[in-house]
Amino acid sequence: MVDRSFRLIFLGPPGAGKGTISAMAAERLGIPHISTGDMFRAAVKSSTPLGLEIKEILARGGLVPDALTIALVKERLAQPDTVRGFILDGFPRTVPQAEALEELGGIDAAVDFEVSDELVVFRLTGRRICGSCGAIYHVANKPPQQEDICDRCGGRLTIRNDDRPETVHARLAAYHAETEPLKSWYGARGLLLTIDGAPDAETVYRSFTVRLEHFLAER
Ligand SMILES: [Zn+2]
Repeated sequence: MVDRSFRLIFLGPPGAGKGTISAMAAERLGIPHISTGDMFRAAVKSSTPLGLEIKEILARGGLVPDALTIALVKERLAQPDTVRGFILDGFPRTVPQAEALEELGGIDAAVDFEVSDELVVFRLTGRRICGSCGAIYHVANKPPQQEDICDRCGGRLTIRNDDRPETVHARLAAYHAETEPLKSWYGARGLLLTIDGAPDAETVYRSFTVRLEHFLAER
């Protein structure tokens, strides 16, 4: 068996199941799942100069600039647990970030989980969360026995702000604007692997592992 590295980035809209697939793949491949969202939150908590700078930007509702994000990612990729690879989630978001990542050693595949806008809207806007215990339901796929009441604890079910239709549409628009250029950028370099993200997580995960194996073997 050839010693192979799995330096992966995950592309795909909110609601594509990237979080679930990342967790499954990171465990099986023994590589870390690196989410820039988590990294921002950790930096803010740490109250380092970099963290305070990010905290101020996020409080204003701004986007963390490329240079700051790249500095954080560079620091993270220098950690010893990335020696066999990594799954980057939320980075790169722009072509300059992708160029910076090439300078940090590059990747083996950019995996794009494709889900139609209609399905994203259906998945996210139908989601209900228990305010007491955090259990997650879906009005069509996994409805509670009693409308808006948690089966587990009797708590009231609510819609997260991120899952409101107007927010979902804004997130989708932002995703298309920033990610389409990245898809063509990686496509032109022969690094883009497209996976159908519409089926259930188990099916998507199986197709991801099979397709990734072939993709890396052919390169
Ligand atoms: Zn509950």
